Amino acid sequence: MRDLLTAALGHAERGWHVFPLRPDDKRPAFPDHTAEDCAGRDPRCRSGHLGWEQRATTDPARIRRAWSRRPYGIGIACGPSGLVVVDLDVPKHPDDNPPPEWAGACDGWDVFGSLAARHGTPIDPFDGFGPDAGPRTGIEATYTVGTGSGGTHLYYRHPTTGPALRNTTGERGGLGWKVDTRAHGGYVVAAGSTVTGRPYAVALDYEPAPLPAWLAGLLAPVPRPARPAAAVSLPADRHGRYLAAAIRRQVAHLAAAPDGQRNHALFTSAVALGQLAAGAALTDDDVTAVLEPVALSIGLRPGEIARTIASGLRVGARQPRRLSSIQEAA
Ligand SMILES: [Zn+2]
Repeated sequence: MRDLLTAALGHAERGWHVFPLRPDDKRPAFPDHTAEDCAGRDPRCRSGHLGWEQRATTDPARIRRAWSRRPYGIGIACGPSGLVVVDLDVPKHPDDNPPPEWAGACDGWDVFGSLAARHGTPIDPFDGFGPDAGPRTGIEATYTVGTGSGGTHLYYRHPTTGPALRNTTGERGGLGWKVDTRAHGGYVVAAGSTVTGRPYAVALDYEPAPLPAWLAGLLAPVPRPARPAAAVSLPADRHGRYLAAAIRRQVAHLAAAPDGQRNHALFTSAVALGQLAAGAALTDDDVTAVLEPVALSIGLRPGEIARTIASGLRVGARQPRRLSSIQEAA
């Protein structure tokens, strides 16, 4: 337990935001419920559900308190830590073979190495480790963790410019076979933890290197055009102009929401427009048509978007706003 505390404090000292995982397990210890099951009973959820990403901390006092209680594993929330972690996995069983596109690859390392070579990055000597250590082309040495299952986590610094990177998954829209990435909305099991008795250990104790530009390019989300004005037809009179301005305001508010507050921003925008919907100036469908594309473009997931808009509309419906009263007051 001491070792876990020491490891957690060490990660926090590097500026990495840590949170407790269930002992010897990959799953977060807190919260013990999902956003949709949140009844506000957890004291930290009193003013809205607080997930592991928001709870992750670098505060030594909070870390000491948590890790003196139980031998929690250590999760690192990649987004707030400014990290992009490349997760190179190994086959799980003898029949776990690569798809034709990656024929001949033995593991995630092979796929990642050929991606690097394909993108013409300079060849850097890499003092690899593990059973097939050797020079890896195009991959700069960086902070590296060996995982419990024989995989590898390469830690990179998230670019300071450009879009926020999110998680990607192997062959499903990700980099390729056995190569996942974790960034905003993602976490990794940190060195010092164990999962089913198998340790995660630092393999190369370097500072995280900047994310290679070719990798940042491959991981950048495909921009989705946000054209909310086209989604709703408004009357051409002053009511219409008022509504258009109200919509633009909510869209701007949502688009500018910082990481960790995006779901909450979606909620408050849905409440604001939901009040107008309750006052019959818009329909609930209009509100969804306006907010959904913006929410997707900032990286929220379809399921959580639908739930959050629905709950915002419910709250907004309790306080309808009618255009006539608004304009008299203005
Ligand atoms: Zn909650």
